[in-house]
Amino acid sequence: MNIIFLGPPGAGKGTQAVRVCERLGIPQISTGDILRRAIKEGTPTGLAAKAYIDRGDLVPDSVVIDIVRERLAQPDCQKGYILDGFPRTVAQAEALATFATIDKVVDINVDDQKLIDRLSGRRVCLACGGTYHVSQLNGSTKCERCGADLIQRDDDKAETVLSRLTVYHAQTAPLIDFYRERGLLVTVDGALPMDDCFAAILSVLGA
Ligand code: AMP
Repeated sequence: MNIIFLGPPGAGKGTQAVRVCERLGIPQISTGDILRRAIKEGTPTGLAAKAYIDRGDLVPDSVVIDIVRERLAQPDCQKGYILDGFPRTVAQAEALATFATIDKVVDINVDDQKLIDRLSGRRVCLACGGTYHVSQLNGSTKCERCGADLIQRDDDKAETVLSRLTVYHAQTAPLIDFYRERGLLVTVDGALPMDDCFAAILSVLGA
C-alpha cells in the first residue's frame, strides 16, 4: 500500500510512520530526515536546503520532488511505503501523481496550541531518530534507545515553530481538500494518546 501521512508539523507523523512501517514491513520516506541528513553530510542539496529549513520555510518544490522521485524508484518501495512530510504543496502533489499511485492519505489532525507545546518541547536523537517530549525525560538529555545525546532541532525553537505553522496553513492544508476530492483522504485525531492514535491509523488503513 502506498500511503501519505499528512498533517501539521508536530502532529506525530514521524513517530506514527515509524510504527506503522514496522507493522506493515514497508519503508518510511521522510523528506525532512533526508534533507537533515544531506545538511549533515554537506551535500549540494543540503547546502541549498539549509537556509529554508532554518527559517521554517519550505524547500523549493523542484528539490524535494527530485528527492522523492529517486527514492520511490528504489526496489524497497515496490511493496509500498509511507511518505511522511511529502507532499507539502499542491504542486508537489500534482508532480507525485505523475510518478506514483497513492492508495490512502492519512490526515493526522491536531490544533495549533497543542502543536506549539509539542514542538517546542520536542527533543530528538540524531543517531537513531528517536523522538521525545521534555515532559517524559525527567531532566535526562540522553536517548533511551541508543544512549546518544538528545538535541532540540533548530526549527523547533519558538519563533520558527510559528512560521512553520503559518506555512502549513497557507501551503499544505489545501492538500486536505485536494485528496478528499480524489476520494483518498482518511482522518485521525492526532491529539489522542500515542497508542490510541496508532490503533486509529491501523483501523483507517484496514491493516
Ligand atoms: P519535517 O521534519 O517534515 O518537519 O521537515 C523539516 C523541514 O524540512 C521543513 O520545515 C521544510 O523546511 C523541509 N521540508 C521537509 N519536507 C518538505 C517538503 N515536502 N517540501 C518542502 N520542504 C520540506
